[in-house]
Amino acid sequence: MSQHAEVFAPPPEALGGARDGKRNLVGQSRAQLVAELAALGEKPFRAKQLWHWIYHRGVTDFAEMTTLSKDFRLRLAETHAVRRPEVAVAQVSQDGTRKWLLRLPDGQEVETVYIPEEDRGTLCVSSQVGCTLTCKFCHTGTQRLVRNLSPAEIVGQIMVARDGLGEWPGDDSGAPAEGRKITNIVLMGMGEPLYNYDNVATAMRIAMDGEGLSISKRKITLSTSGVVPEMERCGRELDVNLAVSLHATNDETRDWIMPINKKYPLKMLLDACRNYPGTHNARRITFEYVMLKGVNDSEDDARRLIRLLKDIPAKVNLIPFNPWPGSFFECSDRATITRFADILSAAHISSPVRATRGEDILAACGQLKSTSERKKKAERDAAAPSQP
Ligand code: SAH
Ligand code: SF4
Repeated sequence: MSQHAEVFAPPPEALGGARDGKRNLVGQSRAQLVAELAALGEKPFRAKQLWHWIYHRGVTDFAEMTTLSKDFRLRLAETHAVRRPEVAVAQVSQDGTRKWLLRLPDGQEVETVYIPEEDRGTLCVSSQVGCTLTCKFCHTGTQRLVRNLSPAEIVGQIMVARDGLGEWPGDDSGAPAEGRKITNIVLMGMGEPLYNYDNVATAMRIAMDGEGLSISKRKITLSTSGVVPEMERCGRELDVNLAVSLHATNDETRDWIMPINKKYPLKMLLDACRNYPGTHNARRITFEYVMLKGVNDSEDDARRLIRLLKDIPAKVNLIPFNPWPGSFFECSDRATITRFADILSAAHISSPVRATRGEDILAACGQLKSTSERKKKAERDAAAPSQP
């Protein structure tokens, strides 16, 4: 475990223990589940059956797991539970985007967002409570990191969303893939997933498992601000799509708006992208680029960006800056964004402008934060003497 992972580790109740003494089965890898059941004197095939009920059918009550013997169900219910994070608030935007504020066993909170589109449904999952990285344009970055999420809390977000969208298959035939509401997972919620790699990896392996949630690794994208030492391992072990929050084309600007750049500057980051396993023309790295007026949106920036990405199979996602209470930056003008996109397109770099979704419920990129944190900040501001 890295030093960061140790310092910010989830408490025992988040890992699936404590509260009423029952151990949560959600978030355990297949191997852990087999071991858990072996300790109860049960054979490995029981783990397979349980896995099906938990992750394919979405059942939380052991009594409904009818392929298990009654005796086993009763014994399990005494010592174990199937739990999701508790939904504190569920909101639906005018545009159909949904946001869940989840309360974790230790009282901490995170947000999960579902974005329906014509041809897919994307779930934006959080990996940490807060973030240590203090990117200047990001709301989450103003909330000091409280802790990493456990595998149960990460995979639990997918399960809560499936509950909310009513998309567990009602029988053993399974939901047809094309009829699914959640087709894609993006690790683009609160936190830096590569600072919580082990727990994110366990959760994503559960999500990918074909006998459960069954979300293909091709449909999972992990977004990083550029934690260079973890990138190679992520590609090699998980083989998920990579998105990189680039946001600037020179070290000076990137140092300012993304302090992690001082540790892993542009050259190092782009080398790690070049070496990301499994990258080829059919599977490009997405570079996220938030459009900040007068900061990173000049024509020179666009041209520098083309040079930086020259030998990397890349696409660029231009994200209009989403303001939040107290945010310092402004979004670039529409015409500037279009011009920027046109320069990239002329160099054959695909550069769609990301549609802003769920703005009315503060669900857009970079706007997520624990609600209680928002309240605390509002209280602090109200108590502070006014600035001249
Ligand atoms: N920590 C990871 C995962 C978060 S992803 C990362 O930084 O990549 C969230 C995406 O939204 C990132 O690309 C982030 O830079 C971007 N973002 C943050 N604040 C934003 C804002 N106010 N407006 C638009 N995009 C923002
Ligand atoms: Fe953290 Fe990503 Fe926000 Fe930066 S952009 S503060 S890394 S969540």
